[in-house]
Amino acid sequence: MKDQLNRRSFIHHAAVGSAAVAWLGSKAPMVMSAEADKPAMLGGTPVHKGSWPGWPTWRESWEPAVIEVLRSGRWFRGAGEHVEEFEQAYAKLIGAKRCLATASGTTALLVSLHVLDVDAGDEVIVSPFTFIATYNAVLINKALPVFADTDPATLTIDPASIESRITDRTRAILPVHIYGLPCDMDPINAIARKHKLAVIEDACQAWLAEYKGRKCGVLGDLGCFSFQNSKHLPSGEGGAVTGDSDDLLDRCQAFHNCGRAFGNFKGPRPYFTRGSNYRMQQFQAVILMQQFDKLIKETEIRRAHAQHLTEGLKTIPGIQTVRLPENSNPVWHLYPFRYDADQFNGLSHNKFIRALNAEGVPCGAGYHEQYFDGLLDEAINSRGFKRLFSPARLKAYRESFEELKGNRLVCNTTVAMTQNLLLGSRDDMDHIIEAVRKIHKHSAALAKAS
Ligand SMILES: *Cc1c(COP(=O)(O)O)cnc(C)c1O
Repeated sequence: MKDQLNRRSFIHHAAVGSAAVAWLGSKAPMVMSAEADKPAMLGGTPVHKGSWPGWPTWRESWEPAVIEVLRSGRWFRGAGEHVEEFEQAYAKLIGAKRCLATASGTTALLVSLHVLDVDAGDEVIVSPFTFIATYNAVLINKALPVFADTDPATLTIDPASIESRITDRTRAILPVHIYGLPCDMDPINAIARKHKLAVIEDACQAWLAEYKGRKCGVLGDLGCFSFQNSKHLPSGEGGAVTGDSDDLLDRCQAFHNCGRAFGNFKGPRPYFTRGSNYRMQQFQAVILMQQFDKLIKETEIRRAHAQHLTEGLKTIPGIQTVRLPENSNPVWHLYPFRYDADQFNGLSHNKFIRALNAEGVPCGAGYHEQYFDGLLDEAINSRGFKRLFSPARLKAYRESFEELKGNRLVCNTTVAMTQNLLLGSRDDMDHIIEAVRKIHKHSAALAKAS
């Protein structure tokens, strides 16, 4: 790892040569060549020429544990102890009383919505700025995902936009700690208590994120996590539900295991409740068990590098870094900022992203206005939803997407980099800042170019 880094930075310095000196030393003379100063999109040299860390990463030391499961033939959770070991260890890590491992983050959401009694014809208030799985989990339960607005300063659900969206059908609020940025949970929980609603945290991007001294995933009734390949704690696929209520977690266990009785949640016959199969495999559990220290160390690196980026980027006019809730500590599944084209001579959001990509900094626009994609039209025009909701409700629902002004602004102005970039070197972070500064300096020329 260390060798790799040294080699990479050596190659990098050899390649960029004296240009690197110009932006690393604060008082260094600007010996930047015209070529290096020119935006890469206009034929200049990219600020960052090396590669970025790959993802996922693993260690040879994990191999015996995986082979052991393979050779045992005890691959499913009922035949071995690894999934339970993982559940106990993860609960401890998050500070939850209980944890249930699931096949994925999506199935963790499905389990949670079911046990918190979100039924056909109900409504759930959801954050719109999220991965599509959050919408789908509600829809699959034949409930309506009602979108609250996004706060452009925080990128998370705007608590002030929740209450006006509550109807007599609302059962739950589903805030999303998107990009590992904790939602402002106190006002959300206060609204939930006032209206007797359940709170399910979508913490599928927020392993170890903190809000007021506690971890995301224990701040509502149930928390949902994902261990999909791209996530900070990956096992290909995988997920977990966390919480402090034995009653709820026993119900989760039963539901995710074909409705079989579990703990205090039992009936007179073995199959007394609905259920499905959302079980985690032993292979997933042993891979996850190897990664706790790695997750903790990498989280520290991402946090330190994100802070460095924020300090550099916020000095550039037109770049707005995220505002965090008081006393919170994010984990940066992506590193986002908002972009104001007016401060960049009208250089469009899209073109800014292309210019930054050309400088060797991979990034994208985050989530778009997905509710206009057609999946919700398909749902509300389906036979089932038409049976469950009145035409007037479905019409008002469809029209309500136009009210999401904060979310529209966020979708049109966000720039986000994936977490693996934050695992680069400190020099790599300086490249990102310098690339944005270079684009700002040349924004007029970039805006004119096609
Ligand atoms: C990844 C993710 C999910 C779904 O998790 P899977 O494990 O892919 O099913 C849900 N919500 C958010 C915000 C996610 O990022």
